[in-house]
Amino acid sequence: MNTLTSQDFFKNGHTPTSEVISFRKDKDHLASHSRVHNCVIDNYNNPERFESDTWVAIYGRHNSFDHNSLTGKRNRGVTLAVRLNTEESRENYHEIKNNYFGPRQNLGSNGGETLRIGTSHYSLTNSNTVVEGNYFDRCNGEHEIISNKSGSNIFRNNVFFECRGTLTMRHGQHTLVENNYFFGNRKPNTGGIRVINEYQTVRNNYLYGLTGYRFRGALVVMNGVPNSPLNRYNQVVDAKIEGNLVMDCDHVQLCAGSDEERSAIPVGTVMARNIFMGNTNLSPFTIYDDISGITFRENIINKEAILPIKKGFEKVGYNVIKNEKGISTPDPDLLQQINFPEVSVPVSKDETGAGYYTKTDLEVGFGSGQVIPVSPGTNTLIEAFGKSNPGDILQLEGEGKYLITKDFTIDHTVSITTPAGPAANVLSEKASFFRIENEGALELVNLRIDGSESPDQPGNAVVTTSKYSMNRNYRLFVRNCVVVDLDVNHSFDFLRIYQHTMADTLLIEGSRFTNVTGAVLSLDREVEDLGIYNVEDVIVTNSVFEKVQGPVVNLYRGGTDESTFGPIVRAENNRFIDCGRGKRNKTKASLKFHGVQNMLIEGCTWQNSAPLTLYLTNGEPIAIVKNSEFRQTPGIVSNNDQFTTENITLTDE
Ligand code: CA
Repeated sequence: MNTLTSQDFFKNGHTPTSEVISFRKDKDHLASHSRVHNCVIDNYNNPERFESDTWVAIYGRHNSFDHNSLTGKRNRGVTLAVRLNTEESRENYHEIKNNYFGPRQNLGSNGGETLRIGTSHYSLTNSNTVVEGNYFDRCNGEHEIISNKSGSNIFRNNVFFECRGTLTMRHGQHTLVENNYFFGNRKPNTGGIRVINEYQTVRNNYLYGLTGYRFRGALVVMNGVPNSPLNRYNQVVDAKIEGNLVMDCDHVQLCAGSDEERSAIPVGTVMARNIFMGNTNLSPFTIYDDISGITFRENIINKEAILPIKKGFEKVGYNVIKNEKGISTPDPDLLQQINFPEVSVPVSKDETGAGYYTKTDLEVGFGSGQVIPVSPGTNTLIEAFGKSNPGDILQLEGEGKYLITKDFTIDHTVSITTPAGPAANVLSEKASFFRIENEGALELVNLRIDGSESPDQPGNAVVTTSKYSMNRNYRLFVRNCVVVDLDVNHSFDFLRIYQHTMADTLLIEGSRFTNVTGAVLSLDREVEDLGIYNVEDVIVTNSVFEKVQGPVVNLYRGGTDESTFGPIVRAENNRFIDCGRGKRNKTKASLKFHGVQNMLIEGCTWQNSAPLTLYLTNGEPIAIVKNSEFRQTPGIVSNNDQFTTENITLTDE
């Protein structure tokens, strides 16, 4: 047996090939009966976000990958892949056990899976891989945490901690998913188990606090495509979904994905002895098509819930207790009734991964460091930043003037604030005030940002991202700021981003923008319609925008990919006055959202502005506009009527 075990590790670099650890010498010499354990790959990423590589590729047969730590993958490509691409790698009986799969940031595209077994090409052959006792910690790359794409694999005794996605039986038959624990803890988009294909078994799994909907529900049974090509969706046939505990989860989706193409309903399928106990969403079941091919038997649901299924459920009172191990569970009598084994986490985080390697979190919160006072003057801000550490707060003096005359590169987390009273004045002689580079994150609080010293040229911006690919997601928070006179020339944006950059969150709160010749948030640089986009969450609240010639927000996510959750937009209690009407505004909108997956606009007022423009596309987007008023403004322009309005007024005054 070959064994690779190492106290060294792969960190802070990247592979020049397409695999970091490969169970083969070359394509003709595969490893078999080999073991890799106690190894670490941490933050070992290609700087090009969309250059694809795989950290671990398992070929051959009878290999073991155990007690390893794989954490912080940020570029495209599966973290761990089992390959079945040659005859010698099929029917492989690999074991993937007790590994720690550490946090993986949202990729903002397909290709962010943590574990994939097989590909659609060989999905009708068996892999016989066992995935057992692993800990998946916030694996948020995309909506498939695990993409199972081959036959006869077993997923047992794994823990999924706050993962935004699901264990997906994407292809392949005879999968067993048993005794896995999913803790969503009410985090957004956390999911459970998604069933596709023939002869799948899902039993005695524990699912808690999962909030995801559609393909990211706690339990999802998909519709298939009749005579499906290999790369589409096989019909669910003879699935057994039995003895699972679904606790305080929001969505169980049956016949999900039903459309003209996916018209083959689940058949021969049994849902029996499951407990659905929840009070967060009292209408947890969504049924998209004919469920006559699913038999419901001896299930238990709390009686407060609205149930669209006629038979096969016993109603009981909502009753959730914490057991002696601190885990939420229903009444022990009910557990006995469904033959659920002891409610107990099958593996702890400490029991997984390379024992010698500490599991740390890389993300630094705003304001978590020291306060550094900064005197007014020229480039005092840049000097103070140079002395700061991640998380520090640069504290300015009220009414002070802070002029920037050099490039200001933000390459770690920092807050720039005036504590109270009058806001400090920040001006720049450069085309951009602040440039966020990899590892940077910026919070601006209680500042007056003035464009009057900016160069007399088109295309200035207050904040830009790197011009090059960034493999780390960033955050930009703007709170209680006054932004004035971004108008020295045309096309002066507040935020300008570049291709292959990704923000986790862009927040504007309690701020006022006046006289802007470009856009406030210009987020439309992924133009190739590949399902890639530039920001997950956009939040704009309690703010006023006046005389913004471009769109206040222009967000674009093109293509038909269904692997992502975002972009997600929330805009509440804002006023838009004379916005979006500049002659250079190609969008002809005050706000434009293309391909947004989840949008809520509430309590907003438009006055003398261009319309709110929506382009609603794939993925059954949710778009809601309510309690809002359009004065001398055309209202909502959309490509279809798949949005919801409530209490909207349009007036000429
Ligand atoms: Ca995927």
